[in-house]
Amino acid sequence: MAVWGSREFDNHEQVCFFSDEATGLRAIVAIHSTALGPAAGGTRFKLYANDSEAVDDALRLSRAMSYKSALAGLPVGGGKAVIIGDPARLKTRALLHAFGRYVDRIGRHFATGEDVGISVADIETMNEVTPFVAGTSAGAGDPSVHTATGVMHGLRAVLERRFGKSDFTGMKIAVQGLGAVGWGVAQRVHDAGAQLVVADVREEVVARAVDRLGAISVPTARIHASDVDIYVPCALGGVVTERTAGEIRAGAVAGAANNQLATAAAGLALAERGILFAPDYVINAGGVISGLEACSAMPGRSLAQFAPLDESLAAIHDRLIEIFDRADREKRTPEATAEQMARELIGR
Ligand code: NAD
Repeated sequence: MAVWGSREFDNHEQVCFFSDEATGLRAIVAIHSTALGPAAGGTRFKLYANDSEAVDDALRLSRAMSYKSALAGLPVGGGKAVIIGDPARLKTRALLHAFGRYVDRIGRHFATGEDVGISVADIETMNEVTPFVAGTSAGAGDPSVHTATGVMHGLRAVLERRFGKSDFTGMKIAVQGLGAVGWGVAQRVHDAGAQLVVADVREEVVARAVDRLGAISVPTARIHASDVDIYVPCALGGVVTERTAGEIRAGAVAGAANNQLATAAAGLALAERGILFAPDYVINAGGVISGLEACSAMPGRSLAQFAPLDESLAAIHDRLIEIFDRADREKRTPEATAEQMARELIGR
């Protein structure tokens, strides 16, 4: 297993490995940058094929968190934790406490929240042993609600820039994945007057969307190729490949899923076809924005340092417009521009 040799290593400030034999905990916390403040990032509980894959995931996701927080204008840095193993088999109260105690130990530099495999209830269990967690129901609550609101602000920027429109009436929107965020986005765009096309591997949520939101259901393998205005990935990463980029009929791709572009070449392929891409770590920043109360527990910090939640969520619209403008001026893709802007902000 390589850390410094990993292709995801980007001069990360700190990488911590933790284990607790009694509970079976094996965890990694990667802190990419604290240049703008203590690092914030969720904890992912997942079965990895091997330890190197887990390290790579922690390194890649923590770098993305640095970019995400910097571009959201937050006074926090980027970090991420992974707990290695099948949560269905391993997750116990004792393990979450053991992990929470480790987070507490590095808590001046890192605070965490929900991600794949970690729920609000799990965060509340960790909160019994450390204040350095966000997303408890007593705090900002489920971050997906705020992520969905942030995606709506981002979609408005896309409407303006790509379609010269200020509202959703008459627009066709394809939402891939009707989970916590995707359902929230689907409901909001429906309420705003859009026609929905949806896909999910869970038949019952698709049926609910057809019934309650008047959505048209399409197979999961073809939703990217739907005849719509905007394709909104809210399920998995890596959905835009060089192949699928050639099949997308929408004028824009803008959704919550992390790491939507499988490769940089996939992003170029979108740009060549005139398809506007909203960089995912900009449009899906609502969750991390809402989780800032964890950072307020850190020495020398208070919530007063942060802008009100509504304002920070609404700023996702302006940030995307700024990225689209600069990308046009510099004749680069929005994702290359976003990365450049994030690196300028964190001084890398
Ligand atoms: P979730 O697990 O609640 O929802 C994911 C949905 O996608 C589920 O309904 C699942 O059945 C569906 N799905 C899985 N495979 C699919 C496939 N092949 N085709 C279609 N649908 C499929 O997750 P979530 O919290 O809604 O997050 C969605 C995405 O947004 C993830 O990529 C996540 O990393 C990202 N994201 C989430 C947040 C947040 O606040 N929850 C914040 C930032 C980014």
